[in-house]
Amino acid sequence: MTEAKPTTPADDPGPSVASLETIVSLSKRRGFIFPSSEIYGGINAVWDYGPLGVELKNNVKRAWWRAMVQERDDIVGLDAGIIMAPQVWVTSGHVANFSDPLVECSTCRRRFRLDELPGCENLTTTELRDPTIVERLGLKCPVDAGPLSAPRQFNLMFKTHMGPVEEDGNEVYLRPETAQGIYVNFRNVRETSRKKLPFGIAQIGKAFRNEISPGNFVFRMREFEQMEMQYFVKPATAAETFEYWMPRRRAWYERYGVTPERLRFREHRPDELAHYAKKAVDVEYRFPFGWKELEGIHNRGDWDLGRHQQATGESLEYFDPATEEKYVPWIVETSAGGDRAAFTFLIDAYREEEVRGEKRVVLGFNAELAPYKVAVLPLLKKRDEIVEKCHALRDDLAKDIMAVYDDTAAIGKLYRRQDEIGTPWCVCIDVDSLEDGKATIRDRDTMEQIRVDLSQVKPIVMERLAKARG
Ligand code: ATP
Repeated sequence: MTEAKPTTPADDPGPSVASLETIVSLSKRRGFIFPSSEIYGGINAVWDYGPLGVELKNNVKRAWWRAMVQERDDIVGLDAGIIMAPQVWVTSGHVANFSDPLVECSTCRRRFRLDELPGCENLTTTELRDPTIVERLGLKCPVDAGPLSAPRQFNLMFKTHMGPVEEDGNEVYLRPETAQGIYVNFRNVRETSRKKLPFGIAQIGKAFRNEISPGNFVFRMREFEQMEMQYFVKPATAAETFEYWMPRRRAWYERYGVTPERLRFREHRPDELAHYAKKAVDVEYRFPFGWKELEGIHNRGDWDLGRHQQATGESLEYFDPATEEKYVPWIVETSAGGDRAAFTFLIDAYREEEVRGEKRVVLGFNAELAPYKVAVLPLLKKRDEIVEKCHALRDDLAKDIMAVYDDTAAIGKLYRRQDEIGTPWCVCIDVDSLEDGKATIRDRDTMEQIRVDLSQVKPIVMERLAKARG
């Protein structure tokens, strides 16, 4: 719920792709992302991932899990339910406070988030709640210049009913963040994993927010995925833990190929901070529609465990055997979006080049993130022996990585298609292959081709992949 500060051209590298439309149309055309329920006219703010999109997003989530769980001795994973005891959301403050300021136009009935109206980006929390603000600033509807209502707080949580009877007593919420599932499991996880502080719990999962103004493709949706890690620390070390995570989270995006100049940190102003937060810094990316939050890093103090302890009467204190102190741990959180990260990698990977007088579109994904790692292509689809060899090679590669066979066009066109979906390597089997047992490996970025023994194709691809992983 924060917006980017205005930037001067000097510190703005500009977007990597000129228009969002380019990415939206590529996504649809090549099967990355479709509007949800499209044959019914679609539903606003929900998007479906097609055959390539689901691979990309799974790869992003795997890369996050690798960096945040697998490679760490001090972080363990969790997969909590989307529906939780409704009291959790009262305790966490979401029922009372998880809202955005909504204004409505009395002529066209359109609704807007006050802090997203032109000129309102830097209003303070107090100003956003001020009933006279619309009048004072002379705000008008940005669509038809009609009069706007005073702001009211609109709660973003989706409600439903649990059990066979729809009545007030059995209302539950679809979680608006994955973090609470971690807090309420803190004791279970700590006791069973026998972790000592500091340690973290990581989780990837769906979250739901009834956003007032969703948009910019998958940037702001009503159903999305979060990748959150909550790091539990001794209170006195929270500030240094925060400083530790900041560069690491930024480096994760760079490790998987995001242009460093298009990333920056933005610290929240004191009046912008959530009521529980001691400090908050966003990792921002230069999207085609401006600098926007990609991930939030927050020092949450003892607010979360303290509140849950108070509400349940269950002790969530930690006994430190080294110092014999007892305290409620403080939490430093890194909260990223799975969709927003996948979207960022997709945008940043896009490039257009001219090759021998023709336009070439390339998604220059890090190989770890690419939906398909290899495409196996026959030079002549009419030669059965060539096609058979292609299938045998693809089947062997597919035991370990995503590999695809395609013979629906001439080789030049097949290469271009794979470039456009970001496949790092193409393997072509031709007539000579039948004689010399060799195949050609073509590199997406350099377009260089090397001729190797068929038996060497898989080891070479696996070696290059391991290198890309870093
Ligand atoms: P914003 O300012 O964009 O509303 P926020 O500050 O409310 O975001 P957090 O609550 O910190 O966001 O959520 C953590 C991360 O979850 C965000 O950085 C973003 O990547 C992702 N996220 C949050 N809301 C959405 C959404 N509506 N659609 C897609 N991703 C989202």
